[in-house]
Amino acid sequence: MSPFELLKPATLDEALKIIAAPDFAGRPVSGATAISLMRRAGILNVDSLLSLEGLRAGLRRIQVTDDGQARIDGLATLGEMEGHAGLCASHPLLPQVFSTLANPRVRNVAMIGGYLSHGDPHMDLPPVLSALGARAVAQSVRGVREIAIDQLYQGYYETALEADELITGLAIPRQPACACYKKVTTRARHDWPTLGIAAAFDLDGGRIARVRLFIGAATDRPLRLRQAEAVLDGQGWSAELGRRAAQAAVDEATLVPDSHGSMEYKQALLRAYLPEAVEQALQAPKPAARQA
Ligand SMILES: Cc1cc2nc3c(=O)[nH]c(=O)nc-3n(C[C@H](O)[C@H](O)[C@H](O)COP(=O)(O)OP(=O)(O)OC[C@H]3O[C@@H](n4cnc5c(N)ncnc54)[C@H](O)[C@@H]3O)c2cc1C
Repeated sequence: MSPFELLKPATLDEALKIIAAPDFAGRPVSGATAISLMRRAGILNVDSLLSLEGLRAGLRRIQVTDDGQARIDGLATLGEMEGHAGLCASHPLLPQVFSTLANPRVRNVAMIGGYLSHGDPHMDLPPVLSALGARAVAQSVRGVREIAIDQLYQGYYETALEADELITGLAIPRQPACACYKKVTTRARHDWPTLGIAAAFDLDGGRIARVRLFIGAATDRPLRLRQAEAVLDGQGWSAELGRRAAQAAVDEATLVPDSHGSMEYKQALLRAYLPEAVEQALQAPKPAARQA
C-alpha cells in the first residue's frame, strides 16, 4: 500500500472545507472496511484520507418519530442501527437484512454514510432502502440536499454525490405493512448476494397497494421492477399472481452476469424467488404502530 496522509478534522465544517478545497485529491473514510480493501488491492490510490471518526460523537444519532419515520446520522454504524430497539420496531425489515449482511466485525465499524457511498451493486441495503423510499442526506459547503436512494447509484461504484459532498444522514419513511428482503447466496447465508430481491407494500382491503420492488446484484445498480409492480398492484395474493409477476420481472430486467452466476442463473433465481419474497412480505413482522 502506498503511504498516505491521514487528515483528522475535529468538526463537520472543517471536514467539508477540506474536501471542498481545489487541491484535495483524497477520499473521506468512515469505517474503512471497503476503502482499505480497495487500497490494498491497488484499485484506489490516493495520497490523503479524510477520517470522519473524530466527528462521530455529534453525528451518530438514530431517531424514530411517532409516525414511524426514521432519521439516522451518517456516522452511525450498521451495528448501532441493528442494536437500536426503536428502529428495529419501526422498521423490522432492517434487522432481517442486517442478520445476513457481512459479519459483526464489519457491521460494528462500517458507518451508514460510508456504506451508502460505496456503490458496490452487490450490496444488500440499496435495494431495500430503495423499496422503502429512503433518502440520503448529502452535505457540502454549498448546503444540504436529499437524494432518493433509488437515484443515488449511477453505475458500477458510481454515485450521484459531488466530489465535495459527504453523506451525513439517512431518512427512511414509515415502513409499509408488508416488506421483505430475499437474499439469495450460493455459499454461506451472509455471503454477498447472487441476487437480492426487496419488496415493500401496503394492503388495501386485502389487496396489494403501492408496491415497490427492487433487485440488487443483478445490474450495475439497484433495479426497479415496474412491470412486475403493475402486475401485483391492486390484486389479492395468489400463487398464480406471483408467477405472473415473476414472469413480468424476468421479461423487463436485463440482468448482468458476474462471478456469482450467469445471466440465465440470475433469471432462474428471479423467477423462483420473487413470488417467495412477496409471500414472505405478507407474513413478515409488522412495524410497531408507535415508537418512543
Ligand atoms: C468481509 C466483508 C463482507 C461484506 N459483506 C457484505 C454483504 O454481505 N452485504 C453488503 O451489503 N455489504 C457487505 N460488505 C460491504 C460493507 O458493508 C462495506 O464495506 C461497508 O459498509 C462500507 O462502510 P465503511 O464505513 O467501512 O466505508 P469506508 O470503507 O470508510 O468508505 C467506503 C467508500 O465511501 C466513501 N465514504 C466514506 N464515508 C463517506 C461519507 N460519509 N460520505 C461520502 N463518502 C464517504 C469512501 O471514500 C469510500 O469510497 C462487506 C464488506 C466486507 C469487508
